[in-house]
Order: sequence, then structure tokens, then C-alpha cells
Amino acid sequence: MPDLEVNLAKTYDAVIIGSGAAGGMAAHVLTTHGLHVLMLEAGKKLPIEQELRSMEWPYDNANRGALPPDSHSLSFNEYTIRKPPYGAGFEKAKHLKSYIGDSDYVKNIVVDERENPFTGTNYAWVRARCLGGKTNIWGRLALRLSDYDFKAKDRDGYGENWPISYSDIQPYYDKVDLYLGITGVKENLPYLPDSIFQRPTKLNCAELTLKQSLQKMGRVATQYRAGVTSDGLKHNKYRSRCYGRGACERKGGCDIHAAFDSPTGLIYPAQDTGNLTLRTNSTVREITVDPNTGKASGVHFTDSQTMKDYHVKAKVVVVAASTLESARLLLLSKSRLYPNGLANSSGHVGHNFCEHVMGPGIAGKVKDLVGKPPTLDDGRPGGFYLTRFRNLAEKHPKFIRGYGFEGSSGSAMFPRGTDVHGFGASFKEEVRKNQGAYIGMGAFGEVLSRYENFVDLDPVVKDKWGIPALRFHYKFGDNEHRMAEDMKETAQEMFEAAGFEIMYVSDRVLTEGWSIHELGTARMGNDPKTSVLNQFEQSHDVKNLFVVDGSAFVNASCQNPTWTIMSLCWRSCDYLADELKKGNL
Ligand SMILES: Cc1cc2nc3c(=O)[nH]c(=O)nc-3n(C[C@H](O)[C@H](O)[C@H](O)COP(=O)(O)OP(=O)(O)OC[C@H]3O[C@@H](n4cnc5c(N)ncnc54)[C@H](O)[C@@H]3O)c2cc1C
Ligand code: SF4
Repeated sequence: MPDLEVNLAKTYDAVIIGSGAAGGMAAHVLTTHGLHVLMLEAGKKLPIEQELRSMEWPYDNANRGALPPDSHSLSFNEYTIRKPPYGAGFEKAKHLKSYIGDSDYVKNIVVDERENPFTGTNYAWVRARCLGGKTNIWGRLALRLSDYDFKAKDRDGYGENWPISYSDIQPYYDKVDLYLGITGVKENLPYLPDSIFQRPTKLNCAELTLKQSLQKMGRVATQYRAGVTSDGLKHNKYRSRCYGRGACERKGGCDIHAAFDSPTGLIYPAQDTGNLTLRTNSTVREITVDPNTGKASGVHFTDSQTMKDYHVKAKVVVVAASTLESARLLLLSKSRLYPNGLANSSGHVGHNFCEHVMGPGIAGKVKDLVGKPPTLDDGRPGGFYLTRFRNLAEKHPKFIRGYGFEGSSGSAMFPRGTDVHGFGASFKEEVRKNQGAYIGMGAFGEVLSRYENFVDLDPVVKDKWGIPALRFHYKFGDNEHRMAEDMKETAQEMFEAAGFEIMYVSDRVLTEGWSIHELGTARMGNDPKTSVLNQFEQSHDVKNLFVVDGSAFVNASCQNPTWTIMSLCWRSCDYLADELKKGNL
């Protein structure tokens, strides 16, 4: 087999589909348990340090960091006015990218929209097809969920509770913190549990002013909890501690891997055990089933470059292709035994799709800081996180659930305030004088999980590899729009209370998908009629099939999901290894 490291004659203990946060964690846990694991990743292994160039100054880049002229990235208006598939109408551009692909540093990481089309309702679907997936460029805000999320139905009667409580996942959050590293400050908040933090970053002057003002309102702004190792990790030779070098705010990742990414954090260490075989350029198109037992028998995959097809066998199939791709794969895996797709006797695969609503936000200026000498404010992996405050002790009359804000202030490599009027020397002077005085923040709110929000397979449109594309049936609802109005009002109220001069405030809701936090398409639950997976992310229908990414979420919470995806995955893979050893799979 000259073109394959995969042994097609062998039955692997487990095959993992995808190499992002979820796939990487599955590889780490299963190989540590001594299982022989094959990981199949659709994208390439990129020379990632050369892609990211974290030490490059804007003026050293031919396009000042922007995309090369032969490429186009979709704007808010284009997402909203046009209809998917978005490729049509952009024929002049050789490459078409999602909105996040508007930087030279991510151009090879995010997918080409034309090669990877989807149809249906508008959606800003950001995908990264390469080793490590989206973790190469994620924003690193690493938050825990709490029983305010896991048992949200008990509080407001909406949706379903998760089949787990915080106490079930808490030991796994701890393991993830210790294995991968996280910065932050303890706040003792019941709705946003603390992690085991390494050295935190510092809030700057304007951020501290906001924090102190919020304290009087009973609200909390805390240091950005970043999935970044600030003290270093003795057990990991592939990652360095954060040196605060300043490119963190730029779109792109961290080339010394202080910020967590799946390859250096999880996959290379898993390869070092000798138990992991990794094959990139391997697009899985179907999970196969043994017609006699009804169990998963392996996967069909296509070499993404040569287009050749292969089948590989495994005792257990672990799906970690990211929330929407995992649902697509289950729906693609139809057979005589499973005519609606694999693991789909409930009809819930692709449904209950949820995420975060984004858009409302604010920018202001701290008058006392105008004209002050510049400070080093972007040499840190984040500014502040303003935690949820709605629907905790009191019920809001207009909407359920909550939202938080991400924000920052101060001088940065790409200065704020370059949209001021003027030109030449006076323009430069104006930018210099003001740039360190800006402070801004944007909200992320929970989108309710609803059965009516779903994806299915398009009957006509296929991707470059001939695989049916996803079709979206997804819209924000009234609760999200009412929440967005409140986001704007409270942002204004909090900036006014802090004494900031308000430059801009918006209640504009960004296109669905903008948060890049897709969740819920194969939710977990105790009832096989209304859920796809059990509490260990194991299919109710097919016991040797696990779906270990954001698909399993029952609701979106308003906290960013990646740390929870990895903690759940660790818990599920411990269970998987145990069950396999007992002969139960
Ligand atoms: C710019 C940006 C900022 C973000 N900021 C944050 C943040 O601050 N905090 C946070 O919690 N989250 C953030 N996220 C989201 C975070 O990156 C995801 O939650 C996380 O990466 C999900 O992990 P995953 O393994 O499910 O998916 P991914 O990381 O997308 O990995 C999935 C992998 O599966 C592969 N794959 C897909 N289909 C197939 C197939 N058929 N066969 C084989 N392989 C396949 C893909 O190529 C990909 O490599 C951000 C994302 C982006 C892009
Ligand atoms: S500030 Fe730290 S985490 Fe961010 S790019 Fe620099 S070294 Fe990496």
C-alpha cells in the first residue's frame, strides 16, 4: 500500500473521524488507554507555523494581512442578501472564503466555499479542513458550563435537561485544564464555575474601570479565560508558554502553540504512544454497518486528492467531524437496517440545532486616556469576559436564558479608530492620539434549541468529492431577537455607568452561524425517542458508535463550547475504553 499508512486488512480498535478539538481529545484518551486507533482527517497537514507567521508585522505582509487579490471573503451583506450556495456570483474570485477567511494568515485553513457548498437558509458556516480543524484559529475563550445550563429546563421549563449534572463533568473539566492549560482568575460564580487556572493576564486601565463600575451593579467582568498555557506544560514538548508577543488579536493562531490547538496539544502526544495512525486527506463519506449485527463495521473514505475510495474496519467508530459535518455523515450513512440514516431511529439527527446569537455590541472611548503614551495591550490572549447576568436570580419579562460579552481595550498591533475622518499627517495624529483609549465589547447569547431548526441532505447539490451537501432550515426566533434588543440596552447602560464616551452602539443581529459555535444536531438524553446519544455520547441505536463533538449538546448555554466538548469527550472515551475491554461493544 504505497499511498497509505493505513492497514486496510486490520480491524482497528477505533476509527476517529476528524482531528479538531473532539477528534484530538478522543485520540489522546483512547491511545492512553492502549487502544489501536486510526484517525482520518479530510484536510491536509499544513506547515502551520509558516501559515500563521505570528511574528510578522502588518507592514511586512504584501497585503497588510488581508487576503490576496485573487480571493474574496463573504461580507455580512453578502451572506444576508444572497442565498446559499454562496459560490454563484463570485466567479471573478479564484477562491471564495467565509467571513473569517478575510486574512492572509488563514487563507489555507478555512475551506473554499465553492468546493464545499451548502444550500437552504442563510448561514455563515465557517469550516477549517486541515489537521486540527478550527482549533488552529479559534478565539480560545475557554469557559465551563454549570447546572444553570445542564438543568436549564428546571429553571424555566423550556427544552430538555441534560442527562448529566455539573458534578459528572467537573472532574473532566479539571483534567482538561491540567492537560492543556488555561489562564484566568477565580470568581466563585455558581453559573460560571472556575477552572484550575495558570497565571492570568492583566486587565488594563479602561477594563479595570469597567470592572469596578460593574461591581456596583452586581455584574462581573473577569480576565479573558483563555485556553492558553501561560506557565508552560512540562508534559508537552510541542507547546511553549505564552510570551505575550502581540499577534493574538490578529486572525490566525499561535505559532508557538501557547494557545491550544489539537495537533500539538493532543494528536502529536497521542502519536508518541505508538498507538495512533493518522491519515490526512481522507474524507469519510459513510459509516458502514454489519447487516448481521446492526453494529458499525468501519468507514468508507475517499482520498481528498486522488479521489480513490477505501474501506477500513474498526471495532468502534468515533465521529468527531464537527457538529454539522457529523450530522451530515450520520444522514449519509443510510442502509437497509437504517433507512433514515445511522443512529436516527428518533428522527432527531440534524435537529435541535443551536448556537449563539451575535451582533449587538458597543464601542466607547475613555476620555482620560486620549493622548496618553501607548501601552502594550495586545501582548495577551484576550481582554475581558463580562459574565451572564440575565435570568439568574430574577426572570426577565421578555426572554429566557442569558448572554455574556467579550471585549477589550487599549493599544493594539492593528490600531482601533482608523475609521476617523481626515487624511495625511492630521489623520495619523488623530489615530495615534485616540487608539489606546478605545474600549469595545460584543455579546454572545444562547439560541434556543428547537426541533424546527435543522439540517438535512440536499437532494441535488454535491461537494467537490461528489458527497451530498447539507441543506439548512435554520432561523433565529423571537427569543433571540428580544434578547438582542436587551444586549444593546444593557451595553449602553454599562458603558454610561462607567463614564465612557459612547462612539457606537448596535443591536444589529449578525447572520446565523456567525458565532462559529454550532451545536446540538445529535443531542444526548435518557429517552431514545427524543435523543440520539446517551450521556456517554454513545448512540442509543448502535452501541459501538460514539459522536463526541458539539452535536451532543442539549442546549447551547451562552458560554463558548470547546472546553465542554473536550471534557465530555474525555468522559465518553474513558467509558468507551472500559466498555470495549469488558466486551460490551
Ligand atoms: C475564528 C474562530 C474563533 C473561535 N473562537 C472560539 C472561542 O473563543 N471559544 C470556543 O469555545 N470556541 C471557539 N471557536 C469554535 C471552536 O473552534 C470549535 O468549537 C471547535 O474547534 C470544535 O471542535 P470539533 O472537533 O468539533 O470541530 P473542528 O475543530 O472543526 O474539527 C473537525 C475536523 O473534522 C474534519 N472533518 C469534517 N468532515 C470530515 C469527514 N467527512 N471526514 C474526515 N474528516 C472530516 C474537518 O476537516 C476538521 O479538521 C472558534 C472557531 C473559530 C473558527
Ligand atoms: S499572545 Fe501568547 S497565545 Fe497569543 S499568539 Fe502570542 S504567544 Fe501565542
